Amino acid sequence: MSNTTCHPLHTHTKLDKVGIWFSSICAIHCILMPFILLLFPVMMKWANLSRTADVIILGLAAIISIVSCLLSLRHHHNDRPLSLVVIGITINLTGRFGVTELGPWLAQTLVISGPMLMAYGLWRDRQLCKCHLLH
Ligand SMILES: [Zn+2]
Repeated sequence: MSNTTCHPLHTHTKLDKVGIWFSSICAIHCILMPFILLLFPVMMKWANLSRTADVIILGLAAIISIVSCLLSLRHHHNDRPLSLVVIGITINLTGRFGVTELGPWLAQTLVISGPMLMAYGLWRDRQLCKCHLLH
């Protein structure tokens, strides 16, 4: 391995951080939303707005994550984070579009696990830049 010295953190670590935030917000939002709708049915009229916001946040998270992992791949030649992110996005999309086939519970579980896996992948991506791992 040629990269045994400490180097300043790459740009991708900043994007990783932003991606982790967006993915986590999406996961938390997807966990809380059913309860909020159950407790406050009056919020139902905002449900569509909430779903749109969710698609936008996850879309941004997906774009940021992929760009970040590609930048990191160039430096670290480790495709594990990118694989995790891509699997996470796939899991989320499966849940999102497979509600009729999978049923609401399994679909919701997939929708939540997707961004969590993305956040984990990005965390791994960030760790690639940490000096202590190179020793
Ligand atoms: Zn790096």
